[in-house]
Amino acid sequence: MITFLSGGTGTPKLVRGARRYVADHSISVIVNTAEDLWISGNHLSPDIDTLLYLFSGQLNTDTWWGIQGDSFHTHEAVKRLGIDEYIGIGDMDRALHILRGELLRKGYSLTEATRILSLRMGIESNILPMTDEEVATLIRTDVGTIHFQEYWVKHRGTLPIQEVIRYAPTGPSASSEVIEAIGRADVVIIGPSNPITSILPILECSGVIPALMDAFVIAVSPFIGNAPVSGPAAALMKARGLSPDSASTCSLYRDFCDLFVQDLRDPVPVHGSLRYDTLMTDMEKSAALAEALIEAGMRGREKR
Ligand code: GDP
Repeated sequence: MITFLSGGTGTPKLVRGARRYVADHSISVIVNTAEDLWISGNHLSPDIDTLLYLFSGQLNTDTWWGIQGDSFHTHEAVKRLGIDEYIGIGDMDRALHILRGELLRKGYSLTEATRILSLRMGIESNILPMTDEEVATLIRTDVGTIHFQEYWVKHRGTLPIQEVIRYAPTGPSASSEVIEAIGRADVVIIGPSNPITSILPILECSGVIPALMDAFVIAVSPFIGNAPVSGPAAALMKARGLSPDSASTCSLYRDFCDLFVQDLRDPVPVHGSLRYDTLMTDMEKSAALAEALIEAGMRGREKR
């Protein structure tokens, strides 16, 4: 079994490739939920939604969110009625958020709700929220402390970041399903997701790091030089006092990472890293990287 730690873009690109070599029922994905929010009465879990749509063959892979070919009639109508729905939610996408909201209101945990959604969408892989407790990434800016989605989607990532805050009132624990998925994995792969907003929230759930220390872990850098392949990772790393590159990413994972992977073109040296073409611009490139990582992981695991 292969277990991934994932956000909503870089790692899903790798998961898409891994599906060519590993059956869906042998893939677990532990997913960041620190970007979740209730919007217009329904529950949006952006990174889980991307994985649900990827595995059910519906994902819009131009954007890596939402459903391919979705319409936005309700979103437009809601905005005309004066609701500040600043995230473009597609009509079919909203159906998923309605069901998840209903399940959560009835008292199901996020893990249970995700299992029900997966079953109804015909998904055989094991998509797991990192925790069932409330966690949110907040950004302190000149206009106040706002949810990460508001920073990234509403303000298009243009506001200077004063601080990245993790709102986690209960000091969240990983679910038992998450710890089992790490424990049963032949290889755990931390894909090239945003370290600050996608991977650290998972690592901060209690139980995750000790489980990773016992596992064989490969991590892939989302940076080439001092820039991420896409998204706001550079500004977020700097706000944490870190340089936005592979060396800092590797240092965040050093306690449990067995193999660190960076791009062939990356000018930033990381001692002992493996070098591959990590730019997953299409399915073939995703598959080639996934195959290389799985092989490296299996070899490394046997040697250990
Ligand atoms: P989010 O939840 O949408 O922010 O997505 P993730 O955290 O999963 O992924 C965002 C990160 O993926 C960014 O920091 C990008 O640099 C990285 N990324 C996106 N595509 C690629 C790719 O093809 N290769 C690599 N190495 N990184 C990528």
